Amino acid sequence: MKTLKIAIQKSGRLNEKSVEILKNCGLSFENYKSSLIATVANFPLEILFLRDDDIPEYVQDGIADLGIVGENVIVEAKAEVNYLQKLGFGKCTLKIAVQATSKIQNLEELNGKAIATSYPVILEKFLKEKGIDAAIRTISGSVEIGPGLGLSDAIFDIVSTGATLKSNGLMPFADVMSSEAVLIGNKSILDNPEVAELLQRIRSVLSAKS
Ligand code: ATP
Ligand code: ZN
Repeated sequence: MKTLKIAIQKSGRLNEKSVEILKNCGLSFENYKSSLIATVANFPLEILFLRDDDIPEYVQDGIADLGIVGENVIVEAKAEVNYLQKLGFGKCTLKIAVQATSKIQNLEELNGKAIATSYPVILEKFLKEKGIDAAIRTISGSVEIGPGLGLSDAIFDIVSTGATLKSNGLMPFADVMSSEAVLIGNKSILDNPEVAELLQRIRSVLSAKS
């Protein structure tokens, strides 16, 4: 029997809850900060600890059979994977925001403007759907400083409390996508009995919680 592999975030917002849900499924494994791979003692499973951005592709390419990652990261990576189960944590919303002093008042007024983001794929899809022709400036982080520096007229980013926006003189303008952590699987593992067993355990952990 082949040992399954599941990829989860090594450190960051999804790590703790991802480890917790696997432990609550009765899986026994060591969770050392330094290790990149853990073997589950009581189930044919290995856990790979990765950057979240790498998880969708690893699952798509079959390097991992399963993964736990935010929907936003899957969509951004354009990964072809099966969505097996929403997990109820890591919830956030991706929003367009503008400067609190901005004259931009509706989506049409973004035409001809520049939007800074780390999520160009999701943003481009949204703008296309809305028929808006705006320039996308892709930067890898701290997008909130863009408008103040004159780099962009608006930003597109993950917003949870809005405190970061506010402290940079920005206000939320349009909701584009809501996201949460999901369990994904490689397209070819659907009828694997161990995957079915694990999925069933995850679902009973989730339903015991709600
Ligand atoms: P990594 O080092 O693995 O690349 P990261 O810095 O890209 O980590 P985190 O900040 O840990 O990522 O966020 C992981 C995921 O958590 C996000 O992709 C998103 O789905 C979710 N999330 C939930 N709330 C927030 C939030 N307030 N800000 C950012 N991400 C959030
Ligand atoms: Zn990341």
